[in-house]
Amino acid sequence: MESLTSPETIWQAVLGELQLSLQRPVFDAWLRDTVAVAYEDGCFIVAAKTAFAQEWLENRMKGMIKQRVQRLVGRAVDLEFIVRPETAPAVEPVAPGPLLQQPQRETGRFTSPSPPQSSLIPSMTFENFIEGEGNRFAYAAAQATAQDPGHRFNPLFMYGGVGLGKTHLLHAIGNTAARSGYAVRYVTAETFTNDLIEAIRNKANSDFRQTYREVDVLLIDDIQFIEGKAGTQTEVFHTFNSLYAANKQIVFASDRPPHVFADFDDRLRSRLAGGLTVDLLPPDLELRVAILRTKALSAGLVVPDDALRYVAEQCKSNIRELQGGLNRVLAFASLHHRAPTLALAQEVLGDVDAALNRDPQAIIQAIAQEFRVTPAELTGPRRSHNIVVPRQATMYLLREMCQLSFPQIGELLGGRDHSTAIHGYEKMSHILDDDVELRSRVERVRVRLRK
Ligand code: ADP
Ligand code: MG
Repeated sequence: MESLTSPETIWQAVLGELQLSLQRPVFDAWLRDTVAVAYEDGCFIVAAKTAFAQEWLENRMKGMIKQRVQRLVGRAVDLEFIVRPETAPAVEPVAPGPLLQQPQRETGRFTSPSPPQSSLIPSMTFENFIEGEGNRFAYAAAQATAQDPGHRFNPLFMYGGVGLGKTHLLHAIGNTAARSGYAVRYVTAETFTNDLIEAIRNKANSDFRQTYREVDVLLIDDIQFIEGKAGTQTEVFHTFNSLYAANKQIVFASDRPPHVFADFDDRLRSRLAGGLTVDLLPPDLELRVAILRTKALSAGLVVPDDALRYVAEQCKSNIRELQGGLNRVLAFASLHHRAPTLALAQEVLGDVDAALNRDPQAIIQAIAQEFRVTPAELTGPRRSHNIVVPRQATMYLLREMCQLSFPQIGELLGGRDHSTAIHGYEKMSHILDDDVELRSRVERVRVRLRK
């Protein structure tokens, strides 16, 4: 039985079993890169790629893995995890990236949209991110990255469905790193793309590069946006290489993992996946209740547990929806001067809600009435504040109540671009979290839509 005493063979067999029994991202994050180093005197030694992984394996998996090793070798063994010496992925020498093979003259002025740091949302911190099943690994990896940017996981790539906390974690990394004095820049891939286009138009390529390459931590949100955009991909690639070579941290968030990106530069794809890839899964009931409890508490409100549980049961798919559910209950309660009880939660999120008129035109009409504007103004071109707010509220409700796609929402609101609809929706979700007044108005719109 030579083969079963070789440490590599034993470890491969253990990994095979673990791969089947663990969630894929867990396996990928902590085990895929491990190697067996030795099996001597009854001691089995496994090397992890990073100190963080080593710690994690030691603390959380040791017992379970040890049992599996013992079962395979048929005797008691000691198991030890060590850190493998750094084997950084080779990055080709960095050529000054071609900005879409564009002009040599770099005279124009690229007006950088915002200085680094300022784009960070201060309220999205690690402290108010609730950890639970589904986000534990992403949370741990984000924290480790924030504490020691550029060294542990580079890049860190986080992915998962909408409203699961990716943007929150990006800002949390940014806020923590900024507090320690690092220069941080957060952008969405869409902003990056727009800045790039503008830089090319203004022949301000070097300003653009400076903006994106002279930071310690670059956080790029919704990177899936650059699928199919070859020029932007090239620029992200060169930005990445430049930062990576200088030991600067890059973090990406996306709604799906890099390997399923369509129409995507393979070199960039392998860069994106070349660090640590972690995913966020939908929150389980326990996490949902914990988040609601914290939110109610921080709003200074006493909401009974059964009401919170009810909200958590109704709003399952993501945390944004969950917060929306609680916000609605609270808005309704204050609107009618009632306490936020289970009965009230049932009233707001239960049957009554099922009987709402969800016709998009009726929604536009109801918003118009509530905000004292006309439907034509909502769908028209004007961008003054008193029209933009109800317009964004319409985008929000069309999404929440009718589950329309963003292109459909843009279309309904006067043929606007889908990215405008996404922006409007996100903006409104965010405002509703804090703005009690507006929350009540949106809730009144729903009341208007009762059949
Ligand atoms: P994503 O970027 O994945 O679509 P966000 O980060 O925007 O999601 O999260 C949606 C909302 O839920 C935000 O208001 C965010 O602060 C909140 N949120 C997400 N996850 C958590 C969590 N674990 N604890 C507390 N709030 C959370
Ligand atoms: Mg997001």
